[in-house]
Amino acid sequence: MHYIPVNEEVVRDLEYLLGSHNVSVEREKMQAYSHDEVGIQFWDRTYCAEAVVFPETTEHVSAVLAYANRRKVPVTPRGAGTGLSGGAVPAFGGIVMAFDRMNRILEVDLDNLTITAEPGVVTSEIQAAAAKHGLEYVGDPCSGDASFIGGNVAENAGGNKVVKYGTTGASVLALEVVLPSGEVTWFGGKRRKDVTGLDLVHLMVGSEGILGVVTKVVLKLIPRLQHVVDLLVPFRGIEEAIAFVPRVMRETGLIPSSLEFIDQKSLSLVSRYIGSSLPYGEAGAHLIIQLENGDPDVLADQYEQVGELCFDGGAMEVFVADNKNFREHLWKARKNIAEAVMAFYSKYAKEDLAVPTSAVPELMRAIDRVCGKHDLASANYGHVGDGNIHVNILADEDREDWREAIESARLELYEVTVRLGGALSGEHGIGLKRKKYLPLFLDETQIRLIRGIKKVFDPNMILNPGKLVDIGTEPSDRFSRET
Ligand SMILES: Cc1cc2nc3c(=O)[nH]c(=O)nc-3n(C[C@H](O)[C@H](O)[C@H](O)COP(=O)(O)OP(=O)(O)OC[C@H]3O[C@@H](n4cnc5c(N)ncnc54)[C@H](O)[C@@H]3O)c2cc1C
Repeated sequence: MHYIPVNEEVVRDLEYLLGSHNVSVEREKMQAYSHDEVGIQFWDRTYCAEAVVFPETTEHVSAVLAYANRRKVPVTPRGAGTGLSGGAVPAFGGIVMAFDRMNRILEVDLDNLTITAEPGVVTSEIQAAAAKHGLEYVGDPCSGDASFIGGNVAENAGGNKVVKYGTTGASVLALEVVLPSGEVTWFGGKRRKDVTGLDLVHLMVGSEGILGVVTKVVLKLIPRLQHVVDLLVPFRGIEEAIAFVPRVMRETGLIPSSLEFIDQKSLSLVSRYIGSSLPYGEAGAHLIIQLENGDPDVLADQYEQVGELCFDGGAMEVFVADNKNFREHLWKARKNIAEAVMAFYSKYAKEDLAVPTSAVPELMRAIDRVCGKHDLASANYGHVGDGNIHVNILADEDREDWREAIESARLELYEVTVRLGGALSGEHGIGLKRKKYLPLFLDETQIRLIRGIKKVFDPNMILNPGKLVDIGTEPSDRFSRET
């Protein structure tokens, strides 16, 4: 595969297609749009766009893709750049297509309970637009105040409410998609049922921008349950906290809307980062159990029932966060852990392992054992109700062999995860960062199928090349560039 560089002629053509105000070749801007939240210390080379385009309409997207496909210029779609897999990093340079200017909420349909938005709408704006009508969009990644809905769809983002409502994909009814050829099509519709052909909507969801570009999203809304409490439950040790998790649903018959876990190391890092702690900072682990109901009395009965069970399971205390301040404080701590790790460590690995919930205790023991063996620390937190643990493997700042030590620990943890029936990533995606590990988790048949699907959608390999299925090869090995 040969790509052509973005030379003056290409820039002129892009300006003709989009207007010059929607095309940038300013170095600073190109650098700013060439990374996501994967630290640059984890790449072995510098990646930089050769042009950034800001489409305003589906027609703009279509025109750029048709042109790039004809001329063989790589195009990398980009949302807010909060990704944790390098998915929006332009592995081959070329054009970064940023959705900042496609940021309109197009419709809230109160008859069909749907919301239709462009890909550049910030997730929390979708939540707010639904809330104005007494409705709820249940997608709730911790990055929701920054990430775009298009990025959420492309990553099938999870977050804090998956245990009850599923990942982003569970809310996606329809997508307008522009194929790499420039062809515009709709997958799905506002209908709730559809077995007409294959489920292309959910092939697109989680496809990390390698198959097509999402230009409109139709999402399901549900009636908002007005009353919500969060229980903050410290436990002496991680084992006790984790062992308690399955009891919540099994013994109460309730499905919490969130069931989150924070270990002691994560809490101490985030407390330093935000400048305040949660009660019982010395506890081995905290659980956050969120319950919601339309009736405040029923909710009170429910949280009392869950609270009693927590004490029975060895909880040190049960705090009921039923007011705005306490709830905001608690979630500020939970949502800032990822940033806190990055603020205090530069030598770390951020893993996103997902195992069957019954296997979480064994995974936690393995993390302890493997990190201890390599003289590494760890900070673990995440969506324990889904079996999705964000494992942060931490090396001391003065450690010189940190890359080797972390790599050995990572591979050992992957081996355990595979044995436990787990996945390489629960919600952050494969992108550029994890693609070389994919063959450890998927067999050759699955990889061949993924590559085949990519080829059908993108025969010229112009869309987000170097990601997901270009396994085990660095861009420079696999592709050459005409200069
Ligand atoms: C502090 C923090 C907390 C986080 N918490 C969570 C969490 O709780 N749950 C979770 O799942 N993730 C979480 N993430 C990861 C990240 O926020 C999500 O993956 C999010 O969905 C990425 O959205 P984005 O708009 O930033 O996408 P980007 O990072 O810009 O892009 C992500 C991928 O989407 C593709 N893409 C973007 N827009 C389009 C489009 N219109 N069409 C096709 N492809 C497109 C890109 O090519 C790329 O492959 C967190 C990240 C941070 C930094």
